[in-house]
Amino acid sequence: MSAGGFLDAVREEIRMSVERLGYDINVYKYLRNPRRTLEVHIPVALDDGRLETFLGYRSQHAAVFGPYKGGIRIHEGVTKDEVEALAILMTLKNTVLDLPYGGGKGGIICDPRTMSEGEKERLSRAYIRALRDMIGPKKDIPAPDINTNPRIIGWMLDEFLKSHPDYDFSVFTGKSPIIGGIEGRKDATGLGVAYVVREACRELGLKLQGATVAVQGFGNVGQGTAKSLARLGARLVAVTDVSGGVQNPVGLDVNSLISWVNETGSVAGFPGSQPITNEALFALPVDVVVPAALENQITAELAQVVQASIVAEAANGPTTPEGAEILHHRNILVIPDILANGGGVTVSYFEWVQAQQGGLKWSLAEVESRLDIYMTTAFGNVWAARSRYGVSMRDAAFMYAIDRLAQGMVERGWISKAR
Ligand code: NAD
Repeated sequence: MSAGGFLDAVREEIRMSVERLGYDINVYKYLRNPRRTLEVHIPVALDDGRLETFLGYRSQHAAVFGPYKGGIRIHEGVTKDEVEALAILMTLKNTVLDLPYGGGKGGIICDPRTMSEGEKERLSRAYIRALRDMIGPKKDIPAPDINTNPRIIGWMLDEFLKSHPDYDFSVFTGKSPIIGGIEGRKDATGLGVAYVVREACRELGLKLQGATVAVQGFGNVGQGTAKSLARLGARLVAVTDVSGGVQNPVGLDVNSLISWVNETGSVAGFPGSQPITNEALFALPVDVVVPAALENQITAELAQVVQASIVAEAANGPTTPEGAEILHHRNILVIPDILANGGGVTVSYFEWVQAQQGGLKWSLAEVESRLDIYMTTAFGNVWAARSRYGVSMRDAAFMYAIDRLAQGMVERGWISKAR
């Protein structure tokens, strides 16, 4: 599916949710577009003396409950439509998690693997100079996403503070702990995925202890999910990344696999494993499948062969609409992205709260137990909406969020009534 298709699909899901809720079309009209999207050309001096201009975006969707919040993605496949679709999904995600934020997203069209550290730093700083009037601790709070890490966020924060010397570090989350980052942020998205998988197992009467898991994508989220599920007793049996895949029905040791990836750059060739493709990973007879890479991975074709009881969408938009329909009809429980991967933004919220409280530090145990409460509560709310409306978990998450957004819009006088 093209990025335009992704945006259209998100809009269609909102329209259908508004219709199912019996709400006024004005609710849809408010939510179908971001409030604004800034497009910037970013000139960067390359190490060889050439000047390259990169295209970047920042999109802000609906600030019904608070400032905009969402990550910055650096990837050659970024498009304006993709950034806008992801900003809309951030509004819904923040609302499902009951965070006081609207949705935002940033993107730069660029393959950072071809760049030196110096070039990446110049790119990151120039992007933030272009955005500096748009973002702020109470306006729009960016965070990492694909190919952005605490190092890059550190450069971005530093650049922002040059033009805003009030030293409010809460303008970015996902920082290194030494400059105000929070304990546990790195694995927060994955830990959140593990908490909702635990809840789903409880509802379905499955035992997480000993349950088998396959994970597509072994970056920040894939690794965090694998580690956290292993901590809760599950057994990782297959993993793929952009360069290959590995499986071992007896189990893959997560920490050794992470060390292997750190040494070699890929899961491929991990000692004691057999190779596996992405397609074969989704067809494995496991209890839980976790797509943690990119959009549109579970197509209609792959949805037919999934054997897992639970698909936990750690990535954003990993299932096509046709794939989602097939999984629903095959009675496979899909924990949708706007619920499943909300742990990252929830701990980002904790980081923002810490900074707003003058840098008060929470312990890792405190962060994890608060995250558990947020994820478990959100899962329970969406599960209840699923029963109430008789729809899939994905539709339930959309309806739950849109119901709250519509009520918020009425309270603020944006629309006179929801129905
Ligand atoms: P990342 O760049 O750290 O990792 C991406 C992983 O996917 C890598 O292992 C890469 O090799 C793999 N991959 C890429 N293309 C692939 C392909 N075609 N087949 C198999 N594997 C492939 O990114 P991340 O931060 O882990 O993000 C992954 C997903 O999770 C994205 O959809 C992102 O939007 C979403 N997400 C991230 C966060 C976060 O906190 N980082 C929060 C919420 C959602």
